[in-house]
Amino acid sequence: MFEDSGNKTITIYGESVKPGEDKWIKIPIDRLPTGTLIDIPIYVFNAEKPGPTLLVQGGLHGDEINGVEIIRRMLYDNNFKIKNGAVIVLPLLNIFGFIHFSRQVPDGKDVNRSFPGVKNGSLAARIAYQVTHEVLPQVDFGIDLHTGGAQRHNHPQIRFTDDFLESRTLAKVFNAPFYFATSLIQKSFRKAAYDRKIPIIVYEGGESMRFDEYAIKEGIQGVLNVMKYVGMIDKIDPMLIEREVSEFLTKRKWLRAPTAGMFVPQVLNGSSIKKGEVLGFVTDTFADYCKEVKAPYDGFVFCINNQAVVNQGDALFHIGASTGSVI
Ligand SMILES: [Zn+2]
Repeated sequence: MFEDSGNKTITIYGESVKPGEDKWIKIPIDRLPTGTLIDIPIYVFNAEKPGPTLLVQGGLHGDEINGVEIIRRMLYDNNFKIKNGAVIVLPLLNIFGFIHFSRQVPDGKDVNRSFPGVKNGSLAARIAYQVTHEVLPQVDFGIDLHTGGAQRHNHPQIRFTDDFLESRTLAKVFNAPFYFATSLIQKSFRKAAYDRKIPIIVYEGGESMRFDEYAIKEGIQGVLNVMKYVGMIDKIDPMLIEREVSEFLTKRKWLRAPTAGMFVPQVLNGSSIKKGEVLGFVTDTFADYCKEVKAPYDGFVFCINNQAVVNQGDALFHIGASTGSVI
């Protein structure tokens, strides 16, 4: 599916990584108020034999740490020592958010709404600029690792770009429990890549600020599945997750709080659901009222809000209908 880009030397921020070399590269971004220089670490694994170049990125949102851990384990296990092509790894893009336990950078801007970026702009725009101009020109396709925002827990899932065949294929190959198309958001990383004809799939697993062992394992397995599919590795040993069908979801819908109160889910995330089934309820604190949230159609729950106290209209469950794996 990818053109053979040949065995090339990868150059990022003036540093060259020749075929057969692995190298840490650091792009300086800005200083902390105390003067400490913060730079974005990038690990380049360049095999001797020609092949495509994969980008694996974590921590675009600083508090979404499962992706950071997925990459750390894969680095520890030497999973990126590939036989051909290259892998460019950004273990933690938004370091500023990471050290502040925040999705954004300290001024409140979201790096994933700051692409393609501005060289001398605000912090988020500077980070985006370096990714757009130093990293994206080197890659053929990529995997962007995320989790649910706030206290929303995402069952492992892949999001792809509907009218981009390679993106759709990668989504299926990743083989997460669920996959579906989502529209491109202006100024997002995926949109910036799309404008340069680079397919990016977005992995979502778990929730921010919490390690989720299952979501981490699904993420590692998925990245390895993609690397095997494009011929970077011959086999995956051991397999962390074996799955026959990745469910392709349509008719996605948020079920919202019918009233304010305490939200008590009655299903596990990732469960299949039947039309009319009670998925959870919202109750007041004194057992005076209790409003049920029911499934409007047969399908699956793939995101649950772990917020215990909710207001009317808050998103509680994200659900979708399955058409099986054939698309
Ligand atoms: Zn995110």
